[in-house]
Amino acid sequence: MTKQTTLKQQDQKQQMEIEQGQIRDRMSQIKHKILVLSGKGGVGKSTVAANLAVALSLAGKSVGLLDIDIHGPSIPKILNLEDKKLMTFGDAIMPVPVSANLVVMSIGFMLQDRDNPVIWRGPMKYQMIKQFLKDVEWGQLDYLIIDSPPGTGDEPLSVVQLLDKPDGAVVVTTPQQVALSDVRKGISFCRSLNLPVIGVIENMSGFVCPKCGEITNIFKSGGGENMAIEMNIPFLGRIPIDPQIVHACDSGEPYIQQYSQCQVAQSFNEAIKPILELDKNKNEK
Ligand code: ADP
Repeated sequence: MTKQTTLKQQDQKQQMEIEQGQIRDRMSQIKHKILVLSGKGGVGKSTVAANLAVALSLAGKSVGLLDIDIHGPSIPKILNLEDKKLMTFGDAIMPVPVSANLVVMSIGFMLQDRDNPVIWRGPMKYQMIKQFLKDVEWGQLDYLIIDSPPGTGDEPLSVVQLLDKPDGAVVVTTPQQVALSDVRKGISFCRSLNLPVIGVIENMSGFVCPKCGEITNIFKSGGGENMAIEMNIPFLGRIPIDPQIVHACDSGEPYIQQYSQCQVAQSFNEAIKPILELDKNKNEK
């Protein structure tokens, strides 16, 4: 090994340590960091992440929502932020405010053309996630909710490594068996990284009739709960298929804000209880 190579490696190591220190400083201002994961796409992970974040903010907590679903960032659409431009303050990137106590950062804000797919290799994704944690001026938050891409790939792995002990993961699934076998992989993934599973949410569990409000189980119901029992993890509840959720997502008005009195909104409020408990326990310590 030449002297030049050794010096370069030393520089890189020093740079890495500086960056890790910067992430630590930034993240030390956030009390709880929670990943929202799913075994596969289309199960409503982003919808659940957005509504959990809004529900926590409506419960009076200061919340950041970070969307690192690099291949399909849907949080700007769900929260009607698609036309927002990012602002910087000194070296920091400012997250986009949604309300007085909810801010959002999404890879979607950085894409020139939302209709073209992002083709990024692992190291580029890692750099981008690092930038979100290091350079975004999150300020003091009670919760950072992180909407990860589906599966057990580079992105959730990078976040877990960079965050150095996030509080845990909420795993979203649908009642069908296929999604469930995928979600089992997701739970094993958490376990292999020593990431606690805060609980499982069974989304699209039954259909709410828009006329009479009756719930019909189109797919099987209860699969998520059975799996949670079998795998010895908490079950956070069921969110039915509700056409109003699709409408809310498409119109950019968070469902739980728009339909706060509905039974489904109450399900989100139930699901955040263990998450609120994390803060209560921390404050009592
Ligand atoms: P993922 O992040 O898992 O890919 P999304 O959150 O983007 O999934 O949701 C996919 C689609 O399903 C969206 O159009 C969303 O409005 C819809 N959706 C999600 N959850 C529900 C639900 N409980 N009822 C009705 N539609 C839903």
